[in-house]
Amino acid sequence: MANPRYLTKSRFKLGLECPTKLYFTKKKEYLDQKMDDPFLAALAEGGYQVGELAKLYFPNGHDITTLDYENAEAQTLELLKQDEVIIYEPAIRFKNLFIRIDVLVKSGNHFDLIEVKAKSFDEYEEEPFLNKNGTIKSPWKPYLYDIAFQRHVLSSAYPNSTISSFLMMANKNAECPTDGLNQKFKIVRDESNIKGIKVSSTLTEEDLKKRILIQVPVEDEIQLIYDCKDSKERRERNFFDEVEFLAEKYQNDEKVITEIGSKCAKCEFKCSSEDEENGFKSGFKECWSSELGWQKDDFNAPNVLSIWNFRKKDSLINSGKIKLTDLVEADISPKHDKKPGISASERQWLQVEMVQNNETKPFFDAQGLKREMDTWKFPLHFIDFETTAVAIPFNKGRKPYEGVAFQFSHHIVYEDGTVEHAGQYLNTEQGKFPNYDFVRSLKEQLEKDDGTIFRYAPHENTYLNLIYRQLLNDPSDITDRGVLCDFIKSITKSVGSSSEKWEGDRCMVDMWDLVKRYFYDPYTNGSNSIKYVLPAILNSSDYLKEKYIEPIYGSPGGIKSLNFKNWQWIELKGGIVTDPYKRLPKMFQDTSEKNMALLTEEDELANGGAALTAYGKLQFTEISDYEKNELESALLKYCELDTFAMVMIYEAWREMIRLELEEDRAA
Ligand code: SF4
Repeated sequence: MANPRYLTKSRFKLGLECPTKLYFTKKKEYLDQKMDDPFLAALAEGGYQVGELAKLYFPNGHDITTLDYENAEAQTLELLKQDEVIIYEPAIRFKNLFIRIDVLVKSGNHFDLIEVKAKSFDEYEEEPFLNKNGTIKSPWKPYLYDIAFQRHVLSSAYPNSTISSFLMMANKNAECPTDGLNQKFKIVRDESNIKGIKVSSTLTEEDLKKRILIQVPVEDEIQLIYDCKDSKERRERNFFDEVEFLAEKYQNDEKVITEIGSKCAKCEFKCSSEDEENGFKSGFKECWSSELGWQKDDFNAPNVLSIWNFRKKDSLINSGKIKLTDLVEADISPKHDKKPGISASERQWLQVEMVQNNETKPFFDAQGLKREMDTWKFPLHFIDFETTAVAIPFNKGRKPYEGVAFQFSHHIVYEDGTVEHAGQYLNTEQGKFPNYDFVRSLKEQLEKDDGTIFRYAPHENTYLNLIYRQLLNDPSDITDRGVLCDFIKSITKSVGSSSEKWEGDRCMVDMWDLVKRYFYDPYTNGSNSIKYVLPAILNSSDYLKEKYIEPIYGSPGGIKSLNFKNWQWIELKGGIVTDPYKRLPKMFQDTSEKNMALLTEEDELANGGAALTAYGKLQFTEISDYEKNELESALLKYCELDTFAMVMIYEAWREMIRLELEEDRAA
């Protein structure tokens, strides 16, 4: 039997994002683009194990595992007859509100309500949750609203009890007491694809003695929410009325009509035209059609949601300027910033103008990029890192969410145009802290010459800064510490938070910056992520098409590759080049295309995605040797393409400059 239509924690969160979503959620006809593979989501989040660790800090509790509302509630009521009791996942209901609490500690008439979050917390920060004006910092709002909701349900169900509420999070400053702690919490998948954690029987008292999770009281912050003092924004209803409103609408399956806006860009209730032809509905199109009177064709026209990095989307939508063809230059107000290439606002207006002019050819500032290229030194090196941050550290002395760099790939382009996949690194050893070996290997590969090094986005610089600090602060005996630190400084610049300032002689060049300042391909629809720029440039560059339609990659006499053989990067379907990432072997055999696409849709700053999920699978699951080999092989191929994508972009630019110079000479 289906569970009743109660407002739960996750539905409350959804309703706060946009009340209309409550109508679409879990209805078969409305496709939901959010990840629906709990096992992969747990691996991707990287912090799922903290929930299980938290339970161990409250020993002898009763675990309520059933997902059935009624059964869970009955078990909870029975346990709560005891005067002193600890319950994991108790089900508490008040009218049409229903919650499962992570840990509930009952002592007589008092409850400790503990919500466990896989989030890093700095206990030494003076006001971790609040802005200077006393309101709640935006990143904390979802967590504090969540626990405020739970507290409200618990106190409504038990009005004569007192309650203390806590968030339990990973303590940024705590040091892991033992080696291999994270390996003792394996993520497992059962037959119905539900994730779970298997705690190792080798877990010792020592493992739990020094706590890496911290219990933070949040009663004051919850009170701010209840008193409507958590924000300066005007709101229609107070917290309690909002809960009642959402619960009633959800219970009656009544659609709440809300205004469309920039929030709709990330709405999960979208579907492709193909899905619509197959009978599915798009919640997004329903909202936009009902507010704007749009017909099917209107959705094919690019609209303001796609303008790159643009903050005034809501004001344009409110003034009825939705399609890019509706805009005039003053809506964007492009301004030059006196730096080489185009500024961010000039790029935004360029995007709009190209749509208005039906321009399909990319914008390319050949002169500007040539000036940059003239400063580069051969051989050119292209590198890309894959990293993760795990809540429960791998090793003794490491802190929760310390960065882990587990993989890189490295391509070289020589002055005569020869390309080779020159090197790579991948740690797959379970429980190993790989960062120092990672840098040793990188150093060995890059120190053979002093050619220019390229990265795409700041991630590689940020991570090398992080490893530099790890090396400096590590009390263990690291014989090559100084050499590694000097190497890092030579190819990076210090990050803003660093007290020591430097910019290395061979500081990496950010190709992402070059894309943003000198190149725009309308096919990317405003994105400058390499995952969009690569397919775009493969379609617009005849040079790349002709070169890579041949199976020269990893072939004898062709381009040296460490992971591919006789590979043909160009595959044309209906005249369009297939995205090369889509032709790689599936990283996860047992999940849908949709989930895989969600994992690979990383942006350059978040750097989340498929690789760290695969690494999580290698580290935190019970995996067969066959599966391990397949996953390693897929990881190596994906990372190799990440750096080869940079090479192909470089080659296309080089050719475009050559053609332009030829044209100039001929003119
Ligand atoms: S399209 Fe916009 S208004 Fe409609 S459900 Fe999504 S976010 Fe809400």
